[in-house]
Amino acid sequence: MHTITTETPIDSRDPMISIRDIWKSFGTNSVLKGIDLDVRSGEVMALIGGNGAGKSTLMKIIMGIYQQDKGDIYLAGEKTDLSKPAIALSHGIYLVPQEPMLFPNMTVEENIIIGFLEKKSELRKRVKEIINQLGWKLQLDRKADTLSIAEQQLVEILRGLLRNARILILDEPTSSLTFNEIESLFDLIEDLKKKGIAIFYITHRLTEVFEIASKVSIMRDGIITLQGPVEDFTKEDLIRGLLPTDIKLKKTAKLQAIDYTDLQPVLQLKNLSGYGYKNISLDVYPGEVLGVAGVVGAGRTEFATAIIGMERANSGQVLLNGEDITGIKTRSIIDKGLNYVPEDRFLNGIFNIADTKSNLSSASLRTMCKFFTNRRREETLSDECIRDFRIKVTGQDQIMESLSGGN
Ligand code: ADP
Ligand code: MG
Repeated sequence: MHTITTETPIDSRDPMISIRDIWKSFGTNSVLKGIDLDVRSGEVMALIGGNGAGKSTLMKIIMGIYQQDKGDIYLAGEKTDLSKPAIALSHGIYLVPQEPMLFPNMTVEENIIIGFLEKKSELRKRVKEIINQLGWKLQLDRKADTLSIAEQQLVEILRGLLRNARILILDEPTSSLTFNEIESLFDLIEDLKKKGIAIFYITHRLTEVFEIASKVSIMRDGIITLQGPVEDFTKEDLIRGLLPTDIKLKKTAKLQAIDYTDLQPVLQLKNLSGYGYKNISLDVYPGEVLGVAGVVGAGRTEFATAIIGMERANSGQVLLNGEDITGIKTRSIIDKGLNYVPEDRFLNGIFNIADTKSNLSSASLRTMCKFFTNRRREETLSDECIRDFRIKVTGQDQIMESLSGGN
């Protein structure tokens, strides 16, 4: 008699991670309402859903950052306590967070290898290998506070890859990356799949779902409303699953042709040059949306901040409705009707520890107060914004940092 050893086919084994009936509330806000999910070895589970649906909260529970109120998590069939990040890490779980969290005073390299016990030289070698494999341009000796959001995202992803995680969670990793970086990240994810890693991949981009995911789940208001193998769905199915139920899917909107005959450009750039960009001339007409594309470090942000007057251009002109606004104060540019939504919301966009209404009113305080803030006016404005932009909050008083990323 001889024994035959058979390799168990992956499918019949227990999922790498099973989430069972997970519930979570913040105060009276019930965020997760009985979530069940399985991800097997070598699978990429795309998790999609509107802003505030609960995706990041679920991922933070897996990583031990938040604790569930109810429900269990099983790793390879065994019920496992993941109540602390250190425990989750020891089980090979790693979360690349939605908002990069780097140490601003440390270098890129220090940021990547912090928290590892291995020898520095060893780690350095591995970091270099991963970067080379990806073909990303990232100087290891740069200070983290000089990095753009996209570059910070790359550092966060590298941290995750260096961890050799068995379960890797990527929470909207590509939101500010460009095609090239995304492509190389996807190549790497393909490798990780082959190595049997289980991956959660949160994204807003449906094309990405079809490109790399094996399974997809849609989360809406804390419930998984649809899940299954990616092949079972079309893009239209997913869009329908994502939209609020009260919205009807429009027929493909037709681009309206603009009649330029009598139009003057709203914004004109004439030979604008500065740090990272050179001799840029362009005209933007009423009704136009002008896309500016480029790889990380191409000078997009520098260029945008120069137009709004946060940075100085070295030469060239910016005209708004024919008026030269080059070099004038940002405050005055905004008064003239040009606005800027910054890339780095933590640094330039929001007051993290203030509530939603103060954040909404902060840019128009002059219409809101003489000396004291007119509370009534502030509340009306906030209500309008929350309604018109479908901002998902428990109320105007919700503190900014507890809002979901998109909100
Ligand atoms: P998603 O990642 O799907 O956009 P989140 O999981 O970040 O959504 O947020 C889901 C809901 O949970 C939101 O309504 C958000 O305001 C709330 N929330 C998340 N974190 C906290 C927190 N620390 N305190 C209070 N509310 C929170
Ligand atoms: Mg999120």
